Amino acid sequence: MIIIMDPRATGEEIEAIQQEITNIGFIPFINPGVERKVIAVLGEFDVSKADLSDHFQAMPGVARVELISDLWKLASRAYHPENSIVQIGNVKIGGNEIIVAAGPCSIESEEQMLGLAHEAKASGAKMLRGGAFKPRSSPYAFQGMGEEGLKILAKAGKETGLPVVTEIMDAHELDVVCKYADVLQIGARNMQNYSLLKKVGTTRHPVVLKRGPGSKIKDLLMSAEYIMAGGNQSVILCERGITTFEDATRNTTDINAVPVLKNWTHLPVILDPSHATGNWHYVGSIAKAGIAAGADGLLIETHSDPAHAMSDGPQSLKPKKFSELMGQLARIAEAVDRSINL
Ligand code: PEP
Ligand code: MN
Repeated sequence: MIIIMDPRATGEEIEAIQQEITNIGFIPFINPGVERKVIAVLGEFDVSKADLSDHFQAMPGVARVELISDLWKLASRAYHPENSIVQIGNVKIGGNEIIVAAGPCSIESEEQMLGLAHEAKASGAKMLRGGAFKPRSSPYAFQGMGEEGLKILAKAGKETGLPVVTEIMDAHELDVVCKYADVLQIGARNMQNYSLLKKVGTTRHPVVLKRGPGSKIKDLLMSAEYIMAGGNQSVILCERGITTFEDATRNTTDINAVPVLKNWTHLPVILDPSHATGNWHYVGSIAKAGIAAGADGLLIETHSDPAHAMSDGPQSLKPKKFSELMGQLARIAEAVDRSINL
């Protein structure tokens, strides 16, 4: 249920509604939108509480009460009609500018990460990516450099002035990852790791939440709701391909997810064409499709020597190819009334 306040409602009236929600045993959550104040009523509804909407409707300052049938509330467009903009330092995701994050799948060395970071920046990337805790299908595969890798990533961020995003795999890593990263990435495999979602919900670090390969769009939004219900509203959703019968590519890009998400939620939506395809030959096409479909950003893997990459070499773009692609992406962005500032 959401309570939409009258634009003229006083601070006391808004406070009284929040207090009443708490008294009844629910949690009030206020959307601090400037145009209209909306208060979400969170908690488990049962039949005995069914007449609550009339109760709140009668309180002073209330314009109207709406029942949100979506299982996600804070993530819903009904609760927050305007696009949310997630601010990361000077970077804003969800506004007119399309933000491209680039960098290697895994941080492998200082030389590798710093080199790729400077090239990414020169090509117009506004954020850096790099994995230090890697979710590998095989326990024998490279597992990432851990904290040493995070230090390198933070150095690359400092040298370039670009914010950095990196994956957190386990709740125990929260402090160390928050220490070095500007943005926490929840990987596809962990999208429904609810204890991890709750944990990142306690921080104020922006989160890139990737869609699980076997998860519905609705499941992705429920996972976002876990983070938001914990108090962290800075969630960026990421489509990175889903599992289908098709095996010509690593995953199948659910391009539909971009406009569907933009319709259902106010949260920024980005696309990862690298994991969606698993093949650098297709990364450019799908990156372009993502922007045309309305994505607010892209997450692209780059590597200067993909043949020797510790992970995901086949889907990594060499810096020169990435740079060429950025020029094309800027033109696509312009065609859909967005911008990429190179
Ligand atoms: C990654 O970004 O390197 C990664 C492991 O992505 P995903 O969780 O989408 O597989
Ligand atoms: Mn990867």
